[in-house]
Amino acid sequence: MPQNLLQTWDNKQFFRGSDDPKITSGVAQIKREIEALTKLCEPFGDRIENADIIPAADFVAVIQDVKAIHTQRSSIVERLSNIQTFISSVLSVDSQDNAANTWLPTLQQIWATLTQAMTPVDVFLARASDAFIDKLLAEPELEEMSFSVRHDRCLKDQLLSVSEEKIITGLAVTGLHGWGNLYDDLAGSLKCQINGETVGLAKAANLMGSDQRSIRESAWRGINTAWQGRKETVATILNAINGWRLEETKQRSHIRELHYLDKSCHESRIERSTLTSLMDSTYKHRTVGQRAMNAMAKALELPKMAPWDVTAPAPNQGAAEAENIPFEDAIALIAKAFSRLTPAMGDFTIMMAEKGWIDASPTPNRTTGAYCTKFANPREPRIFLTYEGSMSNVMTLAHELGHAWHNWVMRDLPIMKTRYSMTLAETASIFAETLVRDALMQQAQNPAQQLEIAWQNAESAAVLLLNIPARFEFEKRLVEARKDGFVIADKLSVMMRESWAYWFEDSLSEYDEMFWASKLHFSISQLGFYNYPYLFGYLFSLGIYAQQEKYGDQFNDLYTSLLRDTGTMTAEEVVQKHLGQDIREMAFWEDSLGIVEDSIAQFEDLVEQHSRTAALV
Ligand SMILES: [Zn+2]
Repeated sequence: MPQNLLQTWDNKQFFRGSDDPKITSGVAQIKREIEALTKLCEPFGDRIENADIIPAADFVAVIQDVKAIHTQRSSIVERLSNIQTFISSVLSVDSQDNAANTWLPTLQQIWATLTQAMTPVDVFLARASDAFIDKLLAEPELEEMSFSVRHDRCLKDQLLSVSEEKIITGLAVTGLHGWGNLYDDLAGSLKCQINGETVGLAKAANLMGSDQRSIRESAWRGINTAWQGRKETVATILNAINGWRLEETKQRSHIRELHYLDKSCHESRIERSTLTSLMDSTYKHRTVGQRAMNAMAKALELPKMAPWDVTAPAPNQGAAEAENIPFEDAIALIAKAFSRLTPAMGDFTIMMAEKGWIDASPTPNRTTGAYCTKFANPREPRIFLTYEGSMSNVMTLAHELGHAWHNWVMRDLPIMKTRYSMTLAETASIFAETLVRDALMQQAQNPAQQLEIAWQNAESAAVLLLNIPARFEFEKRLVEARKDGFVIADKLSVMMRESWAYWFEDSLSEYDEMFWASKLHFSISQLGFYNYPYLFGYLFSLGIYAQQEKYGDQFNDLYTSLLRDTGTMTAEEVVQKHLGQDIREMAFWEDSLGIVEDSIAQFEDLVEQHSRTAALV
């Protein structure tokens, strides 16, 4: 078992700190290189008009130009990514770090300048003839661009002119993304009053996991009252972000009418029919999530769940020590569970912890949330979370290790072939959680311990099958309403209440009307409809997990090759190739919903047993 693990990450091999002069000189060098790249790319602007009729005689010369640009761009991206990952890692541990806070907007600006530099080439590649593209991507040095070029060519009919594309990218830095930054600032400084104490949002969020119901309720009310005081600001943020997106969609609809979900599906690399099947089958089986909620209420001895009860820990009968799992034990436990899939995944987990690639220690000034990121060169993953020994912390750690493993099995591929969409990312992470939960369930000594693990299943079902879809429903209503004008705060609350009622029905005692303000996901300026990929990953990973028996010893190879293809295929192609199934059909999703239903039935039995024992005491 690993001993005395460092719980703070060590990234000094990249830079000494956010004030390292190597960052300043590196950024200056990158800026010069982007200027040179801009000049290399400009001539493509003149080629766009005749992009689809380039004479074959010119192919060789144009391909040479693309090669030079591709090499230069890849080198810039690698170094810029390293600086970006380093600065973000500093800010996660200390959100007040001045140098890092100064670098952040500068880096955002540089990424935008890089996108602008590449715009003439990107537009040219989208409009070029198939014959040219086939020839171009047949070049060994350019083959790594295949998926991204072909996928982006689907957007051909919605591209604007080079100068218009550049204007949108440039204005978005301070326009669109300024609104997202404003939300982050607000969330970082907002204070809540909870039982006479003033606390920040991060602390308040932790209190939502208390085993005392009154504390959870005060935390929930405290958070909502705090956001109530800022509701006009958040309403303005949501209106600005969605107004921007609608206007952009309108401008891009010059050839055919675009739907507001088109962009999100393109980014998620799924077809609209897949999204429709996913949401429709989940709605058809919404009682699965509702049954989880009702059984949780019964276990907590409540007539009905309230919004502040969904985050409650399992009701454990004197198993309080189970709620303080040392970090070393968590790593050992996860490694053991992962090893059942393949020993390499278990060894990898221990290596992550021993090398100091995980930052988990609950230090002051750190930000909330958990994530997995990676350095581009050398290709190393990093994990950030705040570990305080609860079972839900263990699950978060397993989740992020699933992302890290996904990156690790792709580490020998060119960077361009490792960019997967969020839908497939969340598949790897939730698969890892399932491995751990299953192993724990098998080890559980008694019904109380089984209930604790099954509780995690029930909570996942409630969140992923009801809360996540309610967010999707709200966002659709928001976009529709925004088409007609500004949507005031009170109307947003009504829309949120209706969205919750649509999914939760009577499985809750009241609905979370301020959720549009308190959930940061709605204010992420980079991505719209941020939430459904979690539902996709949840059901998709359960579907894969269920294939273990069928494939036996072959299963890990199948899973690994599936993960390795996530950067170069759409979700439909990945599933067709590796599982021979069609995710555009509801049947695929209903199979996974059946797996959840079985685990909820098991949970209901455990709750029944628990209630009987509790009645005897
Ligand atoms: Zn994740």
